[in-house]
Amino acid sequence: GLINALGFAKKHHARILQASTSEVYGDPLEHPQKESYRGNVNTIGPRACYDEGKRVSVTLMFDYHRKWGMEIKVARIFNTYGPRMAKNDGRVVSNFIVQALDNQPITIYGKGGQTRSFCFASDLVEGLVKFMNSPNEFTGPVNLGNPGEFTIKELAEKIIDLSESKSKFIYEALPDDDPRQRKPDITLAMSKLNWQPQIKLEDGLKKTIRYFQEQLSKE
Ligand code: UDP
Repeated sequence: GLINALGFAKKHHARILQASTSEVYGDPLEHPQKESYRGNVNTIGPRACYDEGKRVSVTLMFDYHRKWGMEIKVARIFNTYGPRMAKNDGRVVSNFIVQALDNQPITIYGKGGQTRSFCFASDLVEGLVKFMNSPNEFTGPVNLGNPGEFTIKELAEKIIDLSESKSKFIYEALPDDDPRQRKPDITLAMSKLNWQPQIKLEDGLKKTIRYFQEQLSKE
């Protein structure tokens, strides 16, 4: 897919953006993660197919850039959430909100001490648009995400609170290679794109909860 897209962009002299991911940092040994960090991915683990696939895609982007002078933009997208997420794709924000609204147990994997930093979708989109409109020389990779860091347990508590849910926690097995901590260093995006997220987790969660309430009431 990426090679087709690169070929198409080359033919039409188009600028091309890759939605890369904080997963390229694996279970990071550097915190917060800067773009210069090369990551800690387990090549043979269950997440490797996604992580290594994303890593080799960045390699191809930069090879095309070097060989053909293509205008590339590589964004490292950290955890993002908001209205119109699929309710059953297994990600933490949608899982917890759907469980909370149903007063079902909130499924915390492991002890819930692992951290993530959640960016509201509209903030991310604004960052991507600014990146696409930035000068040619700025190829990235550039981190796009919200540096506000929370444990998964804290996220669960906030969602229960904001949705006035009666849900309790249940603890399930932690998936292999689940990153223990994740938080973007966005110094580069702030200086090159004059961008930083505006929407606080609590406000973004309120909008997302409202969305899922509407969805569930239609069913
Ligand atoms: N998680 C959880 N319960 C769930 C879904 C996810 O505790 O029902 C945890 C998961 O183990 C991980 C974090 O929440 O530590 C974020 O998971 P997600 O799949 O949303 O994103 P990623 O791990 O790719 O950052």
